[in-house]
Amino acid sequence: MTNLIDLTFHELETLIVSLGEPPYRARQVWQWLWQKGCRDIELMTDVSKALRAKLAEAADIVWPEVVRVRESEDGTVKFLLGLADGEAVECVLIPEKDHYTGCLSTQVGCAMGCGFCATGTLGFRRNMTPGEMLGQVLVARQYLLNKGEPLALRNLVFMGMGEPLLNYDNLIKTLESLHHPQGLDFSSRRITVSTAGVKRHLLDLGKTGLCALAVSLHAPTQEQRERIMPGAAKLPLDELIELLRQIPLKPRESLTFEYLLLAGINDADADARELVRLLSRVKAKVNLIVYNATPGLPFRQPSPERVFAFQEILKAKGLVATVRKSKGADIAAACGQLRAETECPADGGA
Ligand code: SAH
Ligand code: SF4
Repeated sequence: MTNLIDLTFHELETLIVSLGEPPYRARQVWQWLWQKGCRDIELMTDVSKALRAKLAEAADIVWPEVVRVRESEDGTVKFLLGLADGEAVECVLIPEKDHYTGCLSTQVGCAMGCGFCATGTLGFRRNMTPGEMLGQVLVARQYLLNKGEPLALRNLVFMGMGEPLLNYDNLIKTLESLHHPQGLDFSSRRITVSTAGVKRHLLDLGKTGLCALAVSLHAPTQEQRERIMPGAAKLPLDELIELLRQIPLKPRESLTFEYLLLAGINDADADARELVRLLSRVKAKVNLIVYNATPGLPFRQPSPERVFAFQEILKAKGLVATVRKSKGADIAAACGQLRAETECPADGGA
């Protein structure tokens, strides 16, 4: 059975043609799926009965199932979503001044093995399908609608579980579906894909213009990076920077680097100075992230004074450096933490 939300617009057209119908019918079905959030082919009332019957035989519409919802005091909402095979992933809604930002997962687990990350500890289980990635947007949007929430889901960041560039083909399909003007209609400016850096696809994605890129750097030298991000460090730091230099940027655009501050590991003054040196080779801005401590992992959050001092060194050298406010810390909102503390059927006690 095909899950209709797995299909790109073009694939939906192909399916509809294969059912003996003209391709233009795809547009109606697409609008039901993405604008109206329809979950039952039978309810697509302006689609002919004949097409509905044929579609229902070949396909269905399956959204991820909400297993758990936690709402933080600061308004952050975290969903644990069950997938058809019993796996579970996380999706987070973050309230901003005039909209919500959705944080999406791309894989169940992750193969990159970053030592500080709850998802990394899980190891790689499988890639998510386009429908599973997009399903997070549908579920989150429906949740806000049901609540009568006036703020809309307007921005998306691929910063949940998994490494987006290791699920590249499905990521591209997902981005294409997100952009479709008759569907969810997200512009590229409102989508950011975060990556720890994968040589095979980094440049390709940067050149598609389908999204903004954020690179998880987290260490200013190759040696330090190897220690905390062994998978990502397979792409040597020098080479990573060289690849990034080839991504076309508009006049006032710069590359975003995420730098996770881990107490005593990468948060010294010397690390900040080394970071300034490294990033002098690109047009960069730095997003400092204060570590959200994860039970069972030997990493700690630096003090606010340390974070401030680190940021000041970057700023003094002319680097734009912001500190990402930690949201939803009371609901285990960092990547992979909610799944880690919830028993998932698919874990099978392993
Ligand atoms: N795999 C991609 C995207 C998912 S992780 C990547 O690594 O970029 C998104 C961001 O969350 C990364 O910058 C990651 O380092 C960060 N992160 C992971 N665990 C965290 C934690 N416990 N506290 C704060 N940030 C964390
Ligand atoms: Fe994977 Fe990103 Fe976590 Fe590293 S930080 S293990 S790349 S999800």
